[in-house]
Amino acid sequence: MQGKAPQSVITDGDPAIWISIQSVLTYAHHRLCAWHLLRNATFNICDPRFTQFFKHCMLADMETDEFETHWESMVNDCGVGDVDWVKDLYSKKYAWASADIRGRFLAGVRTTSRCELLHAKLGRFVESRYGVLEFVRKFQMCVNFLRDKEDELEFCSLYGTPVLQTDFVELKKSAWMKFTREMFARFRESLKREPTSNIFSCMCMRMESFGIPCVHIVAMCVWLDLGEIPESIVLRRWSKTTKIDIENENIDHHTADQSVTYKTRLGAFSQLCKRLGKVACMSDKDFKLYSKKLLSDAIFLEIKYGL
Ligand SMILES: [Zn+2]
Repeated sequence: MQGKAPQSVITDGDPAIWISIQSVLTYAHHRLCAWHLLRNATFNICDPRFTQFFKHCMLADMETDEFETHWESMVNDCGVGDVDWVKDLYSKKYAWASADIRGRFLAGVRTTSRCELLHAKLGRFVESRYGVLEFVRKFQMCVNFLRDKEDELEFCSLYGTPVLQTDFVELKKSAWMKFTREMFARFRESLKREPTSNIFSCMCMRMESFGIPCVHIVAMCVWLDLGEIPESIVLRRWSKTTKIDIENENIDHHTADQSVTYKTRLGAFSQLCKRLGKVACMSDKDFKLYSKKLLSDAIFLEIKYGL
C-alpha cells in the first residue's frame, strides 16, 4: 500500500471483521456488500415486496430526506417496524444506504462480487489436484490472460472516435481525450441533460462518490462556455494516462536493490513497447520503419554495455 491506508472497505458484514475494521482501519469507511444484504433480507423477512423496496432504498441515487421517507413507507407497508433485524439494519444505514454514503469514494463497487469474480476466473485455470509447480504455471497463465484483457480495454480506450450526440462538441471532445472509455460513456449521459443551476460550487457530493463531474458541475462548464474539462474534475483513477503516470512514479522511486529497480524499469518499458507495437503494426510502412529504429537503438545499447 506504499504507506497509504485504505479509504474504503467493503465486506459481507462478518461481526469479527466489522470489529477489526473499527479498531485497525479507523479512518476507512466500511460498506456492507449489497448482495449479502439482499440475501439476508430475503432470508429474514421472507417478503419479496420488502426485498424490492429495500433494494431501492439501498441503491437508488436519492437525497437523505427522500431515503427517510422511502424507509418509513417501506416499514409501514410491510409491517416490519418491530422486527429486530430491521431495526439493526437501520442503525447501520451509514454502511449501506447510498444516500448516506454520498461523498465516500468506492470506485462504483457495491458488492464483494468483484473479488469473487476474480476467484471464479482463477478457478478456470487451476484445480485442487494440482501440485505447486503446475499451480504456479497455471496461475501465471491466468495473470497473462488478465493482462491481455486489460491491454485490450486500454486499446479501446485510447483509439477510436466517439459518436457525437450533443451540442457541446468541444466539451465532449475534451472529455473523450481525458476519461477512459467507460467513464466517458457515463460522463456523456450527464452532458445530455439540460443545465438547471447556476451555482458555482456543488454540495451534492456526487463527484466525490463516483469520481466524475455531477450534472451540476457539467451545467457550470456549459454556462461558462468552457472548451476544455478542468484538470481538477478529472479523477486520476479514471484518466487515460493513469497507468503511464504510475509507471513513471515507480521508475523514479529507486530502491537499494538494483535487480528490483531493473525489473520495475523492464515492466514499465515493456508496457510502452506493447503500446507502440499496437500502432506501429497497423501499416507495412510503419512496421518496417519502427522495427529498423528499434533494432538500431538495441544494437547501439548492446555495444555501449558490452553485451
Ligand atoms: Zn452536484
